Amino acid sequence: MDAFDFDTLAVRAGTERTNFNEHSEALFLTSSFCFKSAAEAAERFAKSEEGFVYSRFTNPTVSMFQDRLAALEGAEACMATASGMSAIMSVVMSTLSAGDHLVSSQSIFGSTLQMFSAIFSRFGIRTTFVDPSDLDAWRAAIEPDTKMFFLETPSNPLTDVADIAAIGSIAKQAGALFVVDNCFCSPALQLPIKLGADVVVHSATKYLDGQGRVLGGAVVGTREYIMGKIFPFVRSAGPTLSAFNAWVLLKGMETLKLRMEKQSANALEIARWLEAHPGIARVYYPGLPSHPQHALAMRQQSSGGAIVAFDVKGDTPEQQRANAWRVIDHTKICSITGNLGDTRTTITHPASTTHGRITPEARAAAGITEGLIRLAVGLENAADIRADLARGLDI
Ligand SMILES: *Cc1c(COP(=O)(O)O)cnc(C)c1O
Repeated sequence: MDAFDFDTLAVRAGTERTNFNEHSEALFLTSSFCFKSAAEAAERFAKSEEGFVYSRFTNPTVSMFQDRLAALEGAEACMATASGMSAIMSVVMSTLSAGDHLVSSQSIFGSTLQMFSAIFSRFGIRTTFVDPSDLDAWRAAIEPDTKMFFLETPSNPLTDVADIAAIGSIAKQAGALFVVDNCFCSPALQLPIKLGADVVVHSATKYLDGQGRVLGGAVVGTREYIMGKIFPFVRSAGPTLSAFNAWVLLKGMETLKLRMEKQSANALEIARWLEAHPGIARVYYPGLPSHPQHALAMRQQSSGGAIVAFDVKGDTPEQQRANAWRVIDHTKICSITGNLGDTRTTITHPASTTHGRITPEARAAAGITEGLIRLAVGLENAADIRADLARGLDI
């Protein structure tokens, strides 16, 4: 399958048929698999990665999802997990031990930040957070026990873009495993492993499903890493993807690239319109020339992606919040919800929701103002989305 183009892999890779020769992938809702004899059971348990035993660690529908995602990321292997967070947890817990040190971008998903700073620290895994664009900061953070670099690009919600190849070469010199969260771009727009990442993690909940239906996650990397580290961890600890969710995700991935291309085109159109609107102070979108890392984004990604963040004007923080909430409350088609990556446009006020639990000082340091809105642009007509935003902006 490796010789085929992404478009072909997205609909074909990983598919295995049963004796019934079903055309669409079969959904194996079974917790375990039977053996012909005690001897076969003993043999299968001893080599559990080679056959199907128990769905905590092997299931044919989940395998099809894993093989398809590995093919799309240009990687040797993949292990699915129950969510994006359990993918990141599996990487850290299978690879690091007490006393080890992690260097992470400070611009990462809120729960990842929480897990690194408040949970893994209790188990003796220390994290230093750095500005992802500052290569000297990555170098300076390296300690004798540094075992892992963690990056998310573009970041949530301000779409900071960091140089995967440059950070990868610093990680290599440090002998650290380089992990990239590829959630915002998906393999349709960005291939971190080709650029020097060792491991890619995914929240499949977002663009891989693409329709806001199920939670899922994945770790992608070399066969040695996935089978040597992640498989034994997931087998024992059990943060497993359900077969049903894997089946839904397989269907979602068939249209991944079509959705990403159309949603990116919609996002670019909306970002340009917002940038010219007198009620908007600033637009964050990697596809706009005004984005600080626009040139890098255009080298590293095949489009600017489908997430647009923007600051609504206001003289005081209170006014900014009131104006942002007015825009959100006047929409009729955008969904006010925390998820992203859906075919339906979703709109969020980060300061009072996703980033509501951190201190106002930490929010300000992260650039998340009271006027900030995050728009995850969907497949609706771009002019309809513009009109939906204009309703609250033009009052
Ligand atoms: C949503 C998200 C996650 C977590 O994924 P879940 O599937 O919700 O656990 C991790 N990283 C990024 C960038 C995300 O957007």
